[in-house]
Amino acid sequence: MARSAIFFSLLFLISALLALLYAFGFLGLFLAALTATTLLIVFLLFHPRNQWLVANRSRVGGAQCVALTFDDGPDPMDTPKLLDLLRKKGVKATFFVVGKRAEQYPNIVRRTWAEGHLVANHTWSHYPLFCFLMPRRLRAEIERCTESIRHCCGFPPRFFRSPVGLRHPLLAPYLENAGLEYVSWSIRTLDTFTANPNVLAERILNKAANGDIILLHDHLPRGTDAMLEALPRVIDELRQRGFDFVLAGPREDAGGTLEPATCEPVP
Ligand SMILES: [Zn+2]
Repeated sequence: MARSAIFFSLLFLISALLALLYAFGFLGLFLAALTATTLLIVFLLFHPRNQWLVANRSRVGGAQCVALTFDDGPDPMDTPKLLDLLRKKGVKATFFVVGKRAEQYPNIVRRTWAEGHLVANHTWSHYPLFCFLMPRRLRAEIERCTESIRHCCGFPPRFFRSPVGLRHPLLAPYLENAGLEYVSWSIRTLDTFTANPNVLAERILNKAANGDIILLHDHLPRGTDAMLEALPRVIDELRQRGFDFVLAGPREDAGGTLEPATCEPVP
């Protein structure tokens, strides 16, 4: 909470300073201060691995481990195809589900969990301007998704990722209250913009290193064919290099017992 207060105080002081500089005609200083402030705020709210506003993990620990994570599902067509593929390859992954989609397709979320994957909170509606939400809506976005997952799986999630990785000045205290830990990523695959499976596979294979958390999507407006086509090659080649696929965090069963992870995640 202290950092949220510092953030808002800083914002207030900077606004006052900018108003004074502008009022007294220091236009050069005004523009310099405005640019510096904008860059600082963009870094704090938009950088996926920034720890200052919200502590987060963006890597998993252990020798030769990587974690595949899939955001924005469940999708009625693509998520079952992905689950079939992961089952065939014997790979476990982490799914950050959107609450209202989970409520629409609860059987897919149940299947995801039943097949050994980790199901996590990706907000209720995936509001794109997440960093500007009013406090009440922010809390509702977190809590409604948690309830939706509880309804599907029988217990609440332990991990959270915000839409596009955006931060919010009040996110840290709200996550703490909700018992959620923030999980970021270290490889952004840009699968949202790539329709070519070879380009996508190369992008992942060229970057992948020990401990990476890889960001992919199992629901996109134009479908996830490129990801579904690229993934078998990515899995096979990473396995050949000696990598294991692990969850982004430990899984909790319905009784509240933590299942041990193959690789222990690091903060
Ligand atoms: Zn998302």
